[in-house]
Amino acid sequence: MENQPWNSIHPDGGEIRRVAVYAASSRALSNDYLDAAGRLGRVLAGGGYSVIYGGGGTGLMGAMADAALAHGAHVHGVVPQFLMDLEVSHRELSQMQVVENMRERKHLMLQGADAVVALPGGCGTYEELFEAMTLKRLGQWNGPIVLVNTLGFYDRLLEFLEHSVSQHFMGNEHADMWSVVNEPEDVIDALVNAHPWSSDALQFANVQG
Ligand code: AMP
Repeated sequence: MENQPWNSIHPDGGEIRRVAVYAASSRALSNDYLDAAGRLGRVLAGGGYSVIYGGGGTGLMGAMADAALAHGAHVHGVVPQFLMDLEVSHRELSQMQVVENMRERKHLMLQGADAVVALPGGCGTYEELFEAMTLKRLGQWNGPIVLVNTLGFYDRLLEFLEHSVSQHFMGNEHADMWSVVNEPEDVIDALVNAHPWSSDALQFANVQG
């Protein structure tokens, strides 16, 4: 995996260079979660990807960013001023971009990303993940979305998404928008082998009766 710069071609033809990572800010997580976040940072750096994320220095965000930096990745944080002021931001990123609010941050992270990887997290992570899914459903952002299901953290969410499909709130095709891995070491395969997606998704965004 080491030394493979910028080499992942997504099946829809787009080159994956920059990965947005969504992850928990909590400082109270068990080592298993922190360890997986660090492994993700290492894997992304080893694959030659750059990382864009919320700029936090705590929790899984901090663990992922520390490892990505330590293994040579360019790590770009996008942080609202009020979080900067709280001093919960990472202080040693390759690039730190200060924005006005959470909405602007979320928009910039996704706009600057060819793919999304979600580690376990709380409501901030869910909001980011669901925005990516929503825009992908509408063909407005079409990159791979990979959930890292450490310790089965996302099992219930995945069940709920399946329920949403089975009850026709989403179509069967929409379940192809995301993929799930148990270990961070499987993320690159999942990114490269993600189901092809394009702006044509708008044609089937609305579930037909
Ligand atoms: P949560 O999963 O609720 O802990 O929220 C984490 C997500 O929301 C991250 O992916 C960040 O983009 C954003 N976020 C929430 N809290 C912070 C924080 N203290 N510093 C930086 N970003 C944060």
